[in-house]
Amino acid sequence: PLSYPPDLKSPWPASAPSAPYSFLAHALSTLSGTRSRIAILNTLTNTLRTIIRYHPLSLCPALYLLSNSLSPPYSPLELGLGPSIISKAIQDVSGLTPAALKRLYNTTGDPGDVAFEAKSNVRTLVPHPPLQIVGVYESLLKIARAKGPGAGKQKQAEVEKLLVAAKGEEIRYLVRTLCQNLRVGAVRTSILTALARALVLTPPDNLTFPYTPISAFYASSAHDLAEINRPLPENAKKKVMEKTREELNDKFVRAEAIIKKVYVLHPNYDHISAALLEVGLEGVAQRLPLTVGIPLLPTLGSPTRSLDEIYSRLGTQPFAAEFKYDGQRAQIHGTRVPSGQQALVKIFSRHLEDMTDKYPDVVALTKEIFAKFDTLRSFILDSEIVAIDPADGSLKSFQELSNRARKDVTLSDIKVPVCVFAFDLMYLNDEILLEKPFRQRRSLLRSTLPPFMPDNSNLASFDHVKSCESQGGRGAVEEFWETAVAGRSEGLMIKLLDSGEVEEVNREGRSRRKPLPSTYEPDKRTSAWLKLKKDYVVGLGDSLDLVPIGAWHGNGRKAQWWSPILLAIWDPSAERLVAVCKCMSGFSDTFYKELRERYPADSETCAKTPLWDPTIETGGLRPEVYFKPQEVWEIRGADITISPVSVAALGMISDKRGLSLRFPRFMKVRDDKSIGNASTPEFLADMYRSQQAYVKKERGGADEG
Ligand code: ATP
Repeated sequence: PLSYPPDLKSPWPASAPSAPYSFLAHALSTLSGTRSRIAILNTLTNTLRTIIRYHPLSLCPALYLLSNSLSPPYSPLELGLGPSIISKAIQDVSGLTPAALKRLYNTTGDPGDVAFEAKSNVRTLVPHPPLQIVGVYESLLKIARAKGPGAGKQKQAEVEKLLVAAKGEEIRYLVRTLCQNLRVGAVRTSILTALARALVLTPPDNLTFPYTPISAFYASSAHDLAEINRPLPENAKKKVMEKTREELNDKFVRAEAIIKKVYVLHPNYDHISAALLEVGLEGVAQRLPLTVGIPLLPTLGSPTRSLDEIYSRLGTQPFAAEFKYDGQRAQIHGTRVPSGQQALVKIFSRHLEDMTDKYPDVVALTKEIFAKFDTLRSFILDSEIVAIDPADGSLKSFQELSNRARKDVTLSDIKVPVCVFAFDLMYLNDEILLEKPFRQRRSLLRSTLPPFMPDNSNLASFDHVKSCESQGGRGAVEEFWETAVAGRSEGLMIKLLDSGEVEEVNREGRSRRKPLPSTYEPDKRTSAWLKLKKDYVVGLGDSLDLVPIGAWHGNGRKAQWWSPILLAIWDPSAERLVAVCKCMSGFSDTFYKELRERYPADSETCAKTPLWDPTIETGGLRPEVYFKPQEVWEIRGADITISPVSVAALGMISDKRGLSLRFPRFMKVRDDKSIGNASTPEFLADMYRSQQAYVKKERGGADEG
C-alpha cells in the first residue's frame, strides 16, 4: 500500500539527514511577501525541486505543510489546538509574562508574529539540532492524534518541543501552521502546478547517486533564499534542459495536465508523492487511477436561464433532462470483499468529506444491493440523497436532511427516510467508465443497478433520477419541465448524451461553437451539464456563492448587529477574495444575532485589519471591520451591474470598472462549500454576458412584435 512514509526502494539511507524546516520557512516567508503569481509559482517550484533533489522523502510532508493540511480531504486530521494551548506554549518557551504577551498580541495581531517577537530575546545555552521537515510533520501528526484524558497536556508538550527548537522565521511559520492560518497565497492549483514544473526540471529518475550531503542544503539561510529565488526559465535553459523556452513550456503544460488529472481522480498527497518518486511523471497516472474508496472531484453544471437558451446552446444534439433534486450530493463507492462476499461501502460529499457515518441507511442499502445482484463486484456512482415522506414517498426539502447528525448515526436514530437518486456511474466491476459518453454510462447504470426498495423500511431506497430524453420532441421536454416545476424539484439538469459541441459567448460578447465531450469531467463546471432552476428562469441566471469578508456597524434597530455585510467572490488565479457587494436583506434577527456571535468585535474572527488567509481585495468598498473568511453564503440578486467601486472581475467586462450585484439577498449558508468553491470572476462575468444577451434578445423580440 502507498502511504506516508512512502515505502520506497530508494538508495537514500534511512540515516541520511532530512531536509531542514528552515528551508520551508524561508519559502513560506518569500511566498507571504508577494502577490505575484509568477513569483509564487517560481518560489514553490524551486522549493519542491530542491526537496526532490536533496531529500525526496520530505516531499509529501512538504506538500502538506505548504497546503496547510495534514492529510487528504476525505480523511481530515485536525490539530485540535485551541488558542490557549498555543499562547501558553509561547509563554512557557519565551518566559514572558501574560501581560507582556498580551501587549505583543495587541501590537502585532498575529500569533506567528507574537511568537517570533517573544522568542527573539531568548538565548539558549545548548543549541538545539535544526528542525527537519519530516520531524515537524510527524510532530503535527502526533498532536492531531493525541486523544483521551491527557491529550491537552500531550499536545502542549509537543508544541513546546517544536517552539524550543525553532529559530528565526521558523517560529513565525510554525505558529501560523499550528493556528491553521498560514496566510500564504499558495492554494491547491499553485501547488500542483509547481509540483508538475518541479518534476519537469528535476525528474526524480535523473537524480545522481550517491546521495548529496544535505549540508550543502542548509549551509546558510541566504543560500536557501538564493536557491528558491533563482529565476526559473534562465536556470532551466542553461543548466537543466538546454531547451528552448517554448519546449519547456510545452513540457510544463503536459506535466500540469498529468498532475492535475491524477489529483482530481486520486486526491492524496501521500500516494501522489510516493508514486512520483517511484515511477515519475510518466507512470503516475497509471499508478494512481480512479480507485474504489478514494473519492474523485465531482463534475459540476453550468447555469442557464431558459429552455430557449438550452436549445440555442445545444441545438438539436440529443440530451437527457433530469430532475434536479434538492438533497445532498453523494458519491457512493462499493466493492465486494473477495473472501467473505461482504461489501465495503464509502459515501463522500461534494467536497470529498466522508459521510459514511452519517448515512448508515445508505450503507445498509448498498450492502443489500450487493447481496441481491451477485454479479456485481464494484461500483462508484454519483447521486443525490433526498429526504422522503414515508407516508407517500413524496420528496422533502434539503432542510430535513441537514437535521441529521454528521457522525455516529445509527439506524434506529433515523427519523427521516431517504432515497438515493442515482444519475451517473463512473466505475463498474473494476472498469473505469469516465471516458465513456454519458449515454453509455447512463445505460449501464440503468441495466446493472435497477431501482430497489429494501424490505426493511429503516433502510434507504434506491432509484434513478426521473428523466426524459430530448428525442421525444420539445413538447415532451416542456411538459417534463412543467412537472419538475410543479413538484419539489429545484428544476432540471440537462445533460448531453453524446460528445458534440456547444455555443458559448466569448469575452467580446460574440458566440462561437466549441467541442463538448460528454465524458465524466472531474472537477469541471461543464457545459455538457446545464442546470435550469425554477427560481431563476426570471431574474438573475443563477444564485452566487459568496464569502462574508467584512461588515459595518448597524443603525437603528440593527445597532447591536453587523449590517450591511460585505461579500466577496473568490479569484483562483490571484488566490484572493475580491469584494463584490454589500448585502442587507434576507437575514432574520436570529441570524443577525448568531452572526454577531460568530464574529465578535476585536476577536480571532473579526478585526479592524484583515490578517487572514486568503488575502482580501476590497477596491472602493471599505468595511468598518473585517471577518475571517470561513463561510460561503448563497446569494440571489436582481441583476449584475458595472460598478465604479467594485473591483470584482475587473478587466473582464470593462477595463476600468468591476462588477457588482444589485439588490443582493441572503438565501442560506452553504455548509457544503468551502472558500475555494465560491463564485469566481469568470462566473460573474459569464453571468453578466448572458444577462446582456438575454436583455438584448428580449428587447429584440419586443421590437419585432
Ligand atoms: P447549486 O447551487 O445549484 O446546488 P452547486 O454549485 O452545488 O449548485 P452545481 O453543479 O451547480 O452544484 O449543481 C449541481 C448540483 O445539483 C449537484 O452538486 C447535485 O448536488 C445536485 N443535483 C440534483 N439532481 C441532480 C442531477 N439529476 N444531476 C446532477 N446533479 C444533481
